[in-house]
Amino acid sequence: MYYSENSVVFLNGNFVKAADAKVGLYNQTMHYGNGVFEGIRSYDTPDGTRIFKAKEHFDRLHYSAEKMHIKLKYSSEELEQITYQLLEMNDLKDAYIRPLVYLGDNMSLTPTDEVHLVIMVWEWGKYLGDKMLKVMLSSFQRPNPKSCFVQAKVVGHYTNSILATTEAKQNGFDEALLTDMNGYVAEGPGANFFFEKDGKLVTAPLGNILSGITRATVFEIAKELQIEVEERFFKPEEIETADAAFFCGTAAEVIGIEQFNDYKFPMNWEESNSSFIQRKYKRRVAFNEYQNVYL
Ligand code: PMP
Repeated sequence: MYYSENSVVFLNGNFVKAADAKVGLYNQTMHYGNGVFEGIRSYDTPDGTRIFKAKEHFDRLHYSAEKMHIKLKYSSEELEQITYQLLEMNDLKDAYIRPLVYLGDNMSLTPTDEVHLVIMVWEWGKYLGDKMLKVMLSSFQRPNPKSCFVQAKVVGHYTNSILATTEAKQNGFDEALLTDMNGYVAEGPGANFFFEKDGKLVTAPLGNILSGITRATVFEIAKELQIEVEERFFKPEEIETADAAFFCGTAAEVIGIEQFNDYKFPMNWEESNSSFIQRKYKRRVAFNEYQNVYL
């Protein structure tokens, strides 16, 4: 699914076949989850293959590495350039890009100087699909920001996400929505959350959530469309008074939610401001917003 015998990855300075790449069994990332990564997308645009917000993603990779005491020796510009090369070598235009910084052998709970970088690319449909989602309030909470750096994309943090998504699916839902340590709504396992009420959008403030690059893009688009966005804490109960809601993230893009627990959002999705944002996001990433291509 992710690679074939011809797929090439960038591994520690070299372009190698994915099937030939090796990783040491004693690496700290595998044992303790200390590694950092990114999730990025490129799009086939009228101006060629474009990585959407490459700088923001690679800068966040640096931020995550720094927080975990990991020394990353490539600049954001170098990483972007390597990724373009890698996309070309794999003959990919619309692609998902996964840089992963993992560590060398170390069974102690201390940082290690042996730092590895792998970048993988593959074709990947929208992470949560194209259909409106049924979302469940998770019994799990997002990690307390005093227990880790929640704004860093750290490998180990995703065990929390896996537990939440698994619970939601076992209960017949598509995805989970998690609260923070105070019981306020935080985010999904791999996406930020917004709801819409009377045309206005509401989302959790930074502090207990990942600072999503798609979330920031939603803010930009909303401003252009003169749609108000409020960043504030809210309890799950408030969602059950909302008109519409969506998740957003690089892998999922912008995807509407039809149901939260037993509550069905009353608004026709196509008529919501959320849906305007979804359409504009799609046009923005595909770079054809200014070329009168209507999607
Ligand atoms: N929250 C979490 C927990 C995530 O893993 C992601 C995906 N990176 C997001 C939000 C959305 O972030 P972005 O828009 O930068 O992909």
